Amino acid sequence: MTKRQRNAMANNGFTTTLLHSDRRSTIEHGAIHKPLHPSSEYAYADSRELAAVFQGKAGFTYARQGTPTTGALEAKITQMEEGVSTVSFATGMAALNATFFTLLRQGDHLISSQYIFGNTNSLLSTLAELGVEVTLVDATDAANVEAALRPETRMVFVESIANPGTQVADLKAIGDWCGRQGLLYVVDNTLSTPWLCRGKDVGAGLVVNSLSKYIGGHGHALGGAVTDTGLYDWSAYPNIADVYRKGSPGGWGLTQIKKKGLRDMGATLSADSAHRISVGSETLALRMERSCSNALALARALEAHAKVARVSYPGLASHPQHERAGQLFGGRYGALLGVELIDGIDVFDFLNRLRVFVLATHLGDTRTLVLPVAHTIYYEMGPERRALMGIADSMLRISVGIEDEDDIIGDFCQALESM
Ligand SMILES: *Cc1c(COP(=O)(O)O)cnc(C)c1O
Repeated sequence: MTKRQRNAMANNGFTTTLLHSDRRSTIEHGAIHKPLHPSSEYAYADSRELAAVFQGKAGFTYARQGTPTTGALEAKITQMEEGVSTVSFATGMAALNATFFTLLRQGDHLISSQYIFGNTNSLLSTLAELGVEVTLVDATDAANVEAALRPETRMVFVESIANPGTQVADLKAIGDWCGRQGLLYVVDNTLSTPWLCRGKDVGAGLVVNSLSKYIGGHGHALGGAVTDTGLYDWSAYPNIADVYRKGSPGGWGLTQIKKKGLRDMGATLSADSAHRISVGSETLALRMERSCSNALALARALEAHAKVARVSYPGLASHPQHERAGQLFGGRYGALLGVELIDGIDVFDFLNRLRVFVLATHLGDTRTLVLPVAHTIYYEMGPERRALMGIADSMLRISVGIEDEDDIIGDFCQALESM
């Protein structure tokens, strides 16, 4: 385990900290998990106490604004990211919505990447329709981000590893530059997870994670989170409402995201999902280790296969950001692959011959999933935008799970050879 992967706060490793997180605070009956709190409202014996909680004192009021169960999960995400605080949402998209809509105003300028998750791309076009200027650049080179700077630039938003092309953004150089400019830098860490890369280590002020993916990990709960790393000076951010400019500026940004995001938009994580994600997250490091090593083995086998035209995977020496990925992610390369078969193979016929791979959208499950992206998640986007993102019509996205390596490689190869 690298130093980066040890949790300085608890002085324990990443997984130890996660496993013992719930019982470190008040233990009810010695339970090792925090209980589920399904209450919609939280009552107070003292009316002054009730008012104090409404006015900012720690506590619970109405469950749309969070519960002890979401709070326990948020504490775990904060520990994983080594941040200062976290707010959870019903999905990763809700977390992104809350971040953009509570922090950006009409006329503000946002710099983002042309290689971005399709749903986020759609969200950015909604923002643009509402008057936020959005510039998409090739963020694999920080110089392109720097060149897009305007006086109205408020935020830089990138993903750590792009889906499905697996481009790796120039995360650290962009973060260093944002730090020098005093710009808010937001990183979507979903594809790398805090096990491979902490947003804080690349200079992000806010980190977004979709909890539906690797962190929950079992394909049975949706969730999202925004974590404040403590690096950004919120006193310099103009769009914070006066009512949230109280106390130390460190908390202002996330307070506004939480208050406005949960209250106005209402996409609150349920206690049931928070609990499932919490339990799933305990094995994040184990699952990531296994998925990353399976992915590397599969990528190598497919790159050498005569019926495969192209494999995009940061762990291959042929990947344009191979070296950067190795440095950023501690010698691991994630668990997502983009694969193109040679001309003449019908991808639908091919997919129908797979037995272990699951034909499904989603990623970060324990099971290996595969999807023809141009025909599904990137269909609405149209051919021009797909070309800009480097998505060929025949491209398959594979999210590698934790099955036995030979079974994954064997299944893909048997389907190819039968063509
Ligand atoms: C899936 C995903 C999201 C959205 O998360 P949901 O929980 O599905 O809403 C955001 N960013 C990235 C990079 C993702 O892969």
